[in-house]
Amino acid sequence: MRTRFAPSPTGFLHLGGARTALFNYCLAKHHGGVFLLRIEDTDHQRSTETAKEAILDGLTWLGLTPDEPTVYQSIRAPRHAEVAHQLLAQGRAYRCYATPEELEIMREEAKATGRPVPYDRRWRDVPEKDHPTNRPFVIRLKVPLTGEMTLLDHVQGAVSLRYDHLDDMVLLRADGTPTYMLAVVVDDHDMGITHIMRGDDHLNNAFRQRALFDALDWPMPQLYHIPLIHGPDGAKLSKRHGAVAIQAYRDQGILPEAMINALLRLGWGHGDQEIFSLNDGIAHFDGRHLGRAPSRFDPQKLLSLNAHYLRTVDMMDRVAPLLAPQYPDATPRHWDWLRQMLPHLTQRAERLGDVVALCHPYMCRPEKGEGWTPAHAAMADQIAPFLASLPPHHWTEEGLSHALKGWATDQGKKLADVAMPLRIAMTGSTTSPSVFAILAILGRDEVLARL
Ligand code: GLU
Repeated sequence: MRTRFAPSPTGFLHLGGARTALFNYCLAKHHGGVFLLRIEDTDHQRSTETAKEAILDGLTWLGLTPDEPTVYQSIRAPRHAEVAHQLLAQGRAYRCYATPEELEIMREEAKATGRPVPYDRRWRDVPEKDHPTNRPFVIRLKVPLTGEMTLLDHVQGAVSLRYDHLDDMVLLRADGTPTYMLAVVVDDHDMGITHIMRGDDHLNNAFRQRALFDALDWPMPQLYHIPLIHGPDGAKLSKRHGAVAIQAYRDQGILPEAMINALLRLGWGHGDQEIFSLNDGIAHFDGRHLGRAPSRFDPQKLLSLNAHYLRTVDMMDRVAPLLAPQYPDATPRHWDWLRQMLPHLTQRAERLGDVVALCHPYMCRPEKGEGWTPAHAAMADQIAPFLASLPPHHWTEEGLSHALKGWATDQGKKLADVAMPLRIAMTGSTTSPSVFAILAILGRDEVLARL
C-alpha cells in the first residue's frame, strides 16, 4: 500500500489538511505500507515558499514524516507533457484550437441550451490534415460520449456520473504546461499510489481523473473521500472555529500528541475509545469506520485532551528546550528539582505554557515578591529553626505535612498562617502546588536558605 498527502502550497497546513495527512499516514502504516508527500505547486501564482515550509514544519511537528523524498509536482511538468503527447499519438486526446472568445460563446450557449458541458467538442473529430499550422492549441482528452461511470468509494459508496456530463478536459495548455488534473493522475501513477484518501470536495475531480486513468490503461487507486470538518456548531470550519495554521495550536501550548488524538477522532472511531496515540491510530486505522457525515471539531475537547497528555508524556523533554535559554545559570540541581516538581506542575495545566509559567521557582531562587509582608517574615523566622531541627527522615511530603501541622497546633496557629509564608518564600508566589511537596523536593538546605 502506498498513500500520499498532496497539499497545494497556497496556504498553511490547517486542521483539514493535517487530518488528511494523518489518515493517510495511519492507513499506510497499518498495512505496513508507505506514506508519501507530494507538494502540488503547479499554480505558480498562488504557491509560496512560506506555505511550503509551513506545511513541512506542521507535518514534522505532528511526526508525520514521509517515507520517501518529497515530490514537487512543478518539476515533473515535462513528464506530464510527455503523457499528454502519448495520448495524442494514441488518438485518445486531440488538439483543440478554440479561441478564448469562442469558448466564451460556447459557455453562454451551454448555459442557454442546458448542455451539461461548456465545450462543444468541435475539434474532437477534425482530421489532422484539416488542422491549422500556426495557431495555438490545447490538448484535450477524448472522454467517452455515452454510458455512465461508477466509482466505488470506500467512504461514499457507489457514485455514478453520466459520461455526457464530463467535458473533454484540457490536459496540456496552449503554453505547453500541464493542467492540475493531468499532473495529479500522472504523479499518482508514477508514485505508485494505491490508495487515495482526501476531502470529499475532490469527489468531482475523481470522475475526471478516472476518465484519464482509463484512457491511459492505468489502474485507478482505491478511493476514500472523507467529509469535511465542521465547527462545534455544525457550520463549515472557519477562522472563528480555528481554521488556522496547525502551528497556531503548537504556539498556544497544544502538544502534538493531543492534536493527533483530536484529529484521529474527527470522522473516525474505534469503539468508544477516546484516547489514541499515533501508534494506536496505526494499530486500528484500517480505512473502515469512516463517518459519512461531517465531523465536528471541538476546541474544548482538544484542550481536555491536551490536559491529559500534559500529565502523561515526559514533560521534561517538552519544557527543557523552552527553559534552557531563559535560565543559562541553572545547575543540575535546578533541573533535578524541576524534574521532581513536574508531576505537580501539570496537575491543573491545560496548555504547555501553563506548565512553563510555573517552573520559575525551581530554575532559580525566586524573589519573594509583593505578597511578602512583615508578618510573613516574622513567621518565617519562627518556622526556620523548627525546620532546621527536624531529623532527615521527616523531609518527605507526608513527614513535613505532619510535622508542620503539629507545630502550627502547638503554636496556636492556623495551618494557612504557616503555609503561606513558606509558599511565598519557596516560590515567590501566593499560589503553588502542595507546599509540603515543594519543601521535600527542594530539601533542607535550600528551604532554609530561601526562608
Ligand atoms: N492538492 C489538492 C489540495 O490541496 C489535493 C489533491 C489530491 O489529494 O488529490 O486540495
